[in-house]
Amino acid sequence: MDEVTTRVCCRCGEWKPETPIFFSFRKNRGTFNSFCKVCNAARSRKFRTENPEAALAIRQRYAEKHPEREKERHRAARAANPEHHREKVRKSYQEHSEKRRAARRAYRAAHLEEERARDRAWKYKYPERYARARIRRAQLGAEKRAEQYGVVIEAVDYFAVLDRDGMRCHICAQDITEGWLSFDHIIPLSKGGPHAFQNVAVAHYVCNRRKNTTVTV
Ligand SMILES: [Zn+2]
Ligand SMILES: [Zn+2]
Repeated sequence: MDEVTTRVCCRCGEWKPETPIFFSFRKNRGTFNSFCKVCNAARSRKFRTENPEAALAIRQRYAEKHPEREKERHRAARAANPEHHREKVRKSYQEHSEKRRAARRAYRAAHLEEERARDRAWKYKYPERYARARIRRAQLGAEKRAEQYGVVIEAVDYFAVLDRDGMRCHICAQDITEGWLSFDHIIPLSKGGPHAFQNVAVAHYVCNRRKNTTVTV
Protein backbone atom coordinates (compact mmCIF):
# COMPACT_ATOMS: atom_id res chain seq x y z
CA MET A 1 0.00 0.00 0.00
CA ASP A 2 1.59 3.21 -1.12
CA GLU A 3 0.25 6.24 0.55
CA VAL A 4 2.10 9.40 -0.37
CA THR A 5 1.29 12.62 1.37
CA THR A 6 1.50 15.62 -0.89
CA ARG A 7 2.45 19.08 0.17
CA VAL A 8 1.92 22.43 -1.45
CA CYS A 9 4.95 24.61 -2.15
CA CYS A 10 4.48 28.09 -0.72
CA ARG A 11 6.37 29.55 -3.64
CA CYS A 12 5.14 27.97 -6.85
CA GLY A 13 1.89 26.64 -5.35
CA GLU A 14 2.37 23.18 -6.83
CA TRP A 15 1.43 20.05 -4.95
CA LYS A 16 4.32 17.65 -4.69
CA PRO A 17 4.98 14.43 -2.72
CA GLU A 18 6.27 15.19 0.74
CA THR A 19 9.52 13.28 0.41
CA PRO A 20 13.21 14.30 0.60
CA ILE A 21 13.26 14.16 -3.20
CA PHE A 22 10.92 17.14 -3.51
CA PHE A 23 11.33 18.96 -0.22
CA SER A 24 14.40 19.23 1.96
CA PHE A 25 13.90 18.20 5.56
CA ARG A 26 14.51 20.82 8.24
CA LYS A 27 15.99 18.79 11.07
CA ASN A 28 15.88 21.61 13.60
CA ARG A 29 12.16 22.19 12.95
CA GLY A 30 11.25 18.56 12.42
CA THR A 31 9.30 19.35 9.25
CA PHE A 32 9.85 19.62 5.55
CA ASN A 33 10.73 22.98 4.08
CA SER A 34 7.79 25.05 2.91
CA PHE A 35 9.45 25.68 -0.47
CA CYS A 36 9.94 22.84 -2.92
CA LYS A 37 13.52 21.99 -3.84
CA VAL A 38 13.24 23.61 -7.27
CA CYS A 39 12.04 26.90 -5.79
CA ASN A 40 14.58 26.69 -2.99
CA ALA A 41 17.43 26.24 -5.46
CA ALA A 42 16.16 29.21 -7.49
CA ARG A 43 15.97 31.33 -4.34
CA SER A 44 19.53 30.36 -3.34
CA ARG A 45 20.78 31.11 -6.83
CA LYS A 46 19.15 34.55 -6.70
CA PHE A 47 20.67 35.21 -3.29
CA ARG A 48 24.12 34.12 -4.46
CA THR A 49 24.07 36.41 -7.50
CA GLU A 50 22.71 39.37 -5.52
CA ASN A 51 24.99 38.93 -2.47
CA PRO A 52 28.14 37.24 -3.70
CA GLU A 53 30.20 38.22 -0.64
CA ALA A 54 27.66 37.08 1.91
CA ALA A 55 27.19 33.84 -0.03
CA LEU A 56 30.92 33.25 -0.03
CA ALA A 57 31.09 33.87 3.73
CA ILE A 58 28.28 31.36 4.30
CA ARG A 59 30.04 28.79 2.15
CA GLN A 60 33.29 29.32 4.03
CA ARG A 61 31.58 29.01 7.42
CA TYR A 62 29.94 25.81 6.26
CA ALA A 63 33.25 24.47 4.96
CA GLU A 64 34.94 25.19 8.29
CA LYS A 65 32.17 23.47 10.16
CA HIS A 66 32.13 20.41 7.89
CA PRO A 67 35.66 19.87 6.60
CA GLU A 68 34.91 16.25 5.68
CA ARG A 69 31.90 17.17 3.56
CA GLU A 70 33.89 19.95 1.94
CA LYS A 71 36.65 17.52 1.02
CA GLU A 72 34.11 15.08 -0.34
CA ARG A 73 32.51 17.85 -2.41
CA HIS A 74 35.89 18.82 -3.87
CA ARG A 75 36.68 15.22 -4.67
CA ALA A 76 33.38 14.82 -6.48
CA ALA A 77 33.86 18.07 -8.42
CA ARG A 78 37.36 17.02 -9.43
CA ALA A 79 36.17 13.60 -10.59
CA ALA A 80 33.33 15.20 -12.56
CA ASN A 81 35.59 17.65 -14.39
CA PRO A 82 39.28 16.72 -14.13
CA GLU A 83 40.41 19.03 -16.97
CA HIS A 84 38.89 22.09 -15.30
CA HIS A 85 40.60 21.12 -12.05
CA ARG A 86 44.00 20.73 -13.71
CA GLU A 87 43.58 24.12 -15.39
CA LYS A 88 42.80 25.74 -12.03
CA VAL A 89 45.83 24.18 -10.37
CA ARG A 90 48.07 25.29 -13.23
CA LYS A 91 46.79 28.86 -13.01
CA SER A 92 47.17 29.16 -9.28
CA TYR A 93 50.63 27.63 -9.58
CA GLN A 94 51.68 30.31 -12.06
CA GLU A 95 50.03 33.15 -10.15
CA HIS A 96 51.79 32.31 -6.92
CA SER A 97 55.07 31.07 -8.32
CA GLU A 98 57.13 33.93 -6.85
CA LYS A 99 55.56 33.60 -3.43
CA ARG A 100 55.95 29.85 -3.47
CA ARG A 101 59.60 30.01 -4.46
CA ALA A 102 60.34 32.62 -1.79
CA ALA A 103 58.65 30.47 0.85
CA ARG A 104 60.60 27.43 -0.33
CA ARG A 105 63.88 29.35 -0.17
CA ALA A 106 63.11 30.65 3.32
CA TYR A 107 62.23 27.16 4.50
CA ARG A 108 65.42 25.72 3.03
CA ALA A 109 67.54 28.43 4.66
CA ALA A 110 65.93 27.75 8.03
CA HIS A 111 66.32 23.96 7.77
CA LEU A 112 69.53 23.72 5.80
CA GLU A 113 70.98 20.66 7.53
CA GLU A 114 67.76 18.65 7.30
CA GLU A 115 67.32 19.68 3.70
CA ARG A 116 70.82 18.56 2.77
CA ALA A 117 70.31 15.23 4.50
CA ARG A 118 67.04 14.86 2.61
CA ASP A 119 68.78 15.63 -0.70
CA ARG A 120 71.44 13.02 0.02
CA ALA A 121 68.89 10.40 0.98
CA TRP A 122 66.92 11.13 -2.16
CA LYS A 123 70.03 10.92 -4.32
CA TYR A 124 70.87 7.43 -3.02
CA LYS A 125 67.33 6.20 -3.09
CA TYR A 126 66.63 7.33 -6.66
CA PRO A 127 69.98 7.52 -8.49
CA GLU A 128 68.34 7.57 -11.91
CA ARG A 129 65.88 10.31 -11.05
CA TYR A 130 68.73 12.23 -9.47
CA ALA A 131 70.74 11.97 -12.69
CA ARG A 132 67.75 13.07 -14.73
CA ALA A 133 67.17 16.04 -12.43
CA ARG A 134 70.83 17.04 -12.79
CA ILE A 135 70.63 16.82 -16.57
CA ARG A 136 67.44 18.91 -16.56
CA ARG A 137 69.15 21.49 -14.36
CA ALA A 138 72.20 21.58 -16.66
CA GLN A 139 69.87 22.20 -19.59
CA LEU A 140 68.03 25.05 -17.87
CA GLY A 141 71.29 26.61 -16.67
CA ALA A 142 72.75 26.52 -20.19
CA GLU A 143 69.63 28.17 -21.62
CA LYS A 144 69.96 30.95 -19.07
CA ARG A 145 73.65 31.49 -19.84
CA ALA A 146 72.96 31.43 -23.59
CA GLU A 147 70.38 34.14 -23.02
CA GLN A 148 72.92 36.23 -21.12
CA TYR A 149 75.45 35.87 -23.95
CA GLY A 150 72.77 36.75 -26.48
CA VAL A 151 73.64 33.83 -28.76
CA VAL A 152 71.35 31.75 -30.94
CA ILE A 153 69.14 29.55 -28.78
CA GLU A 154 67.49 26.40 -30.04
CA ALA A 155 65.55 23.90 -27.99
CA VAL A 156 68.19 21.31 -27.11
CA ASP A 157 67.10 18.04 -25.58
CA TYR A 158 70.02 17.00 -23.37
CA PHE A 159 68.72 13.45 -23.20
CA ALA A 160 68.95 13.31 -26.99
CA VAL A 161 72.55 14.58 -26.74
CA LEU A 162 73.27 11.79 -24.27
CA ASP A 163 71.70 9.29 -26.67
CA ARG A 164 73.88 10.61 -29.50
CA ASP A 165 77.21 10.75 -27.60
CA GLY A 166 76.79 8.01 -25.03
CA MET A 167 78.84 8.26 -21.83
CA ARG A 168 81.96 9.44 -23.65
CA CYS A 169 83.75 12.72 -23.05
CA HIS A 170 84.20 14.70 -26.28
CA ILE A 171 87.27 16.46 -24.84
CA CYS A 172 89.45 13.57 -23.63
CA ALA A 173 87.61 10.78 -25.54
CA GLN A 174 87.47 8.63 -22.38
CA ASP A 175 84.40 6.95 -20.95
CA ILE A 176 82.63 8.79 -18.21
CA THR A 177 82.40 5.99 -15.70
CA GLU A 178 83.76 8.01 -12.87
CA GLY A 179 83.35 11.63 -12.04
CA TRP A 180 80.52 13.89 -12.97
CA LEU A 181 78.75 13.90 -16.26
CA SER A 182 78.43 17.38 -17.72
CA PHE A 183 77.46 19.02 -20.99
CA ASP A 184 79.80 21.29 -22.87
CA HIS A 185 79.30 23.78 -25.68
CA ILE A 186 81.91 22.81 -28.31
CA ILE A 187 82.22 26.43 -29.39
CA PRO A 188 81.78 28.20 -26.04
CA LEU A 189 78.78 30.47 -25.59
CA SER A 190 81.24 33.19 -24.61
CA LYS A 191 82.76 32.92 -28.11
CA GLY A 192 79.35 33.24 -29.72
CA GLY A 193 78.74 29.52 -30.07
CA PRO A 194 75.04 28.72 -30.47
CA HIS A 195 73.02 26.83 -27.91
CA ALA A 196 72.09 24.15 -30.44
CA PHE A 197 72.03 20.36 -30.61
CA GLN A 198 75.15 20.20 -32.81
CA ASN A 199 77.11 22.45 -30.46
CA VAL A 200 76.32 20.62 -27.21
CA ALA A 201 78.32 17.53 -26.29
CA VAL A 202 78.83 15.21 -23.36
CA ALA A 203 81.99 15.81 -21.30
CA HIS A 204 83.59 15.07 -17.96
CA TYR A 205 82.81 17.83 -15.52
CA VAL A 206 86.56 18.19 -14.86
CA CYS A 207 87.52 18.34 -18.56
CA ASN A 208 84.73 20.85 -19.13
CA ARG A 209 86.01 23.11 -16.36
CA ARG A 210 89.62 22.83 -17.55
CA LYS A 211 88.70 23.63 -21.14
CA ASN A 212 86.55 26.59 -20.26
CA THR A 213 89.11 28.15 -17.96
CA THR A 214 91.85 27.86 -20.60
CA VAL A 215 89.68 29.05 -23.48
CA THR A 216 88.25 32.06 -21.75
CA VAL A 217 91.64 33.40 -20.62
ZN1 LIG B 1 7.92 25.39 -5.63
ZN1 LIG C 1 87.10 14.09 -20.30
